[in-house]
Amino acid sequence: MINFEFKNPTKIIFGKGEIAKISNEIPVDERVLMVYGGGSIKGNGVYNQVKAALKDYDLYEFGGVPANPEFDILVNALQLIKEKKITYLLAVGGGSVIDGVKFLSAAAYYDGDPWEILKKPVRIFEGEGMPFGTVLTLPATGSEMNSSYVISRREINEKRSSGGPGMFPRFSILDPEVVRTIPKNQIANGIADAYTHVLEQYMTAPSSADLQERIAESILISLQETAPKLMAEEFDYGAAANFMWCCTMALNGLIQKGVITDWAVHAMGHELTAYYGIDHARTLAIVAPSHYRYNFEAKKQKLAQYAQRVWGITQGTTDEKAERAIIKMENFFHSLDIHTKLSDYVADYQETATRVKNAFTDRKWTGIGEYKTLTPQDAYEIVKMCY
Ligand code: NAP
Ligand code: FE
Repeated sequence: MINFEFKNPTKIIFGKGEIAKISNEIPVDERVLMVYGGGSIKGNGVYNQVKAALKDYDLYEFGGVPANPEFDILVNALQLIKEKKITYLLAVGGGSVIDGVKFLSAAAYYDGDPWEILKKPVRIFEGEGMPFGTVLTLPATGSEMNSSYVISRREINEKRSSGGPGMFPRFSILDPEVVRTIPKNQIANGIADAYTHVLEQYMTAPSSADLQERIAESILISLQETAPKLMAEEFDYGAAANFMWCCTMALNGLIQKGVITDWAVHAMGHELTAYYGIDHARTLAIVAPSHYRYNFEAKKQKLAQYAQRVWGITQGTTDEKAERAIIKMENFFHSLDIHTKLSDYVADYQETATRVKNAFTDRKWTGIGEYKTLTPQDAYEIVKMCY
């Protein structure tokens, strides 16, 4: 196990009806900006619950943050923060709204051009941002309990990640009841995103971090077991609760401690979203199988372990188990009605692979992945294999 430090300061408030507790967490003299997305919270009652909980506050609103939060829109929220002298931010939404608020939290205390915060690849914001909390409405990203965020700038086809120790939410309220109104395609996205978050931290060379590996495997198994209940017509509170907590645990830092992580699937996937607008989770389901096939030698021990412990495959050589593991993974995505071939989304592989390669070259990402050895040319080959 490699050395690590672990600190996660986000307070989680979990369960039915808990949105009413927001006011316990935000001092009553704060000037609060509630940030939300395209309006789903107005249809499912979450908006009213938040408003009721904050009735005694100086409360302002900014709605309209789109999926893949857009820099140009967030800049308008930043203006409102300055005009209204906002002191506390509240994200009410999925990963896009929460990520948008993290960026606003950093930008609110940053004197320069806000794009500077995102300009360098994976720029780390070291300072404290404006305090913020979240009310999660879509389990998927883990953003409610981590310190990373991803912002898009469509004008220049960019999707940039950032984060830093000051970017953890002060608190996050997780009420599984919100899952009731999530469309099935978004639930599928949430499952696939969380599943791939675990894979990015697990599917590396064998580590001696036994506990982290066992926790990772438990999250994968729990997601697999919960998926059919979540995709069924009838709402199942227990399944929703397990799904929600799995997604948070998949990316709150715990399972990545003491191990080497990969994240190349996300790096390539972000490019597919930036160019073609493919949902984040779907890009991961496209890239992951090819990434594991391309890097088969380096990853086959762990793939075989995943086959055995997560899918119960006990027969065959290491290579055979590892190959079957990738097929099981693909079939799991298919069971969520998620396509795993890029050709189902985009016509020309040459152009797509070249775009990814050029983007990585421009950013000088000459070594990504678990060993920091994957070159832009490797990314080209992997994307080509996704067809
Ligand atoms: P999302 O983009 O936040 O939301 C997707 C859609 O679901 C939106 O249309 C939203 O509607 C709707 N929705 C949300 N909650 C709903 C509910 N309870 N009922 C009905 N509809 C609901 O999806 P996401 O997958 O959570 O976030 C994706 C973003 O997070 C991507 O930009 C991705 O790159 C990023 N990400 C971040 C991290 C991280 O660690 N920070 C990790 C992975 C991915 P409204 O617009 O009306 O709310
Ligand atoms: Fe993700």
